[in-house]
Amino acid sequence: MTNVIEIQNLRKSFGSHEVLRDVNFNVKKGEVVCLIGSSGSGKSTLLRCINLLEKPSGGNIIYKGENILDKKHNIEKYRTHLGMVFQQFNLFNNLDVLNNCVVGQQKVLKRNKQESTDKAMKFLEVVGMAQYKNAKPRQLSGGQKQRVAIARALAMDPDVMLFDEPTSALDPEMVGEVLKVIRLLAEQGNTMLIVTHEMEFAREVADRIVFMDQGVIVEEGQPEHVLVNPKHERTKEFLKRTLR
Ligand code: ADP
Ligand code: MG
Repeated sequence: MTNVIEIQNLRKSFGSHEVLRDVNFNVKKGEVVCLIGSSGSGKSTLLRCINLLEKPSGGNIIYKGENILDKKHNIEKYRTHLGMVFQQFNLFNNLDVLNNCVVGQQKVLKRNKQESTDKAMKFLEVVGMAQYKNAKPRQLSGGQKQRVAIARALAMDPDVMLFDEPTSALDPEMVGEVLKVIRLLAEQGNTMLIVTHEMEFAREVADRIVFMDQGVIVEEGQPEHVLVNPKHERTKEFLKRTLR
C-alpha cells in the first residue's frame, strides 16, 4: 500500500522546550491509525505540524511522495487534502449546518452552489444530521456539532482525515454517537489518523496503534500487540494508568 503521509525525523520546539523529538511514522492509503499517549506527550502538536498549523522545527513531511516543507510547495493546496476535526468542533456559529458544510467547498475548492450543496447533504446523511440542515450550531448538542464538523471535513474530499480527541469535549452520553460515525468511516475505507483516549474504540477501529510519550514514538503496531502485549515499559505504565 502507498503512503499518503510520511513523517521523517520531525522535530518541534517551543523556545527551549522540545515537544517533538525525531518522530517517524507513516499513514498508508485506507489505513486507520490511532495515536495514543498521556496528556502533554505531543499528540496535538504532531497533528498541528502535519497540517502546518504549527511550523515544524525540523524534519520532513512527505505527502504523496513530495516534501511539503520544501519552500516551493503550495501549502494552501496541500491543506485542502487534509480533513481536520478538532476537540472543540470549531463550527462557524453564524452559519447554519448546511452552510457550514458548503462554505469551504465554494471558497477553497471553487465548487458551484449545486455541487457543494449535493456534497454537503451527502455527508450530512452519512453522519445522520441531514434533517438539521437549517439549524444553527447553538441549537445542537455537542455530539451533533461534532458530527456536523465531521461532515464538513468529509465534504472537502480529503485524502486523510485527522481527528484530535474528537470526543474529549463531549458529555459521556454523546461519545457513542460520534464514535459510531468514525467507525462507519473506517468501514468505508477512509484514511484516518485519530488521536484518542478511547482505548476500546482504538482497539476495534485501528489497523495500527502508535504510542507517543514525551515527544517520541515509543511503540507502534497492531492493536493486539500494543494494547494487549506491549513490549515497552512506558507503554505498559501508560496502559495501566489509563485502563484502571
Ligand atoms: P497532547 O496533545 O499530547 O496533550 P500537546 O501537543 O498539546 O500534547 O502539548 C505537548 C507539549 O507542548 C506540552 O508541554 C504543551 O504545554 C506544549 N505546547 C503545546 N503548544 C504550545 C505552544 N503553542 N506554545 C508553547 N508550548 C506549547
Ligand atoms: Mg492534545
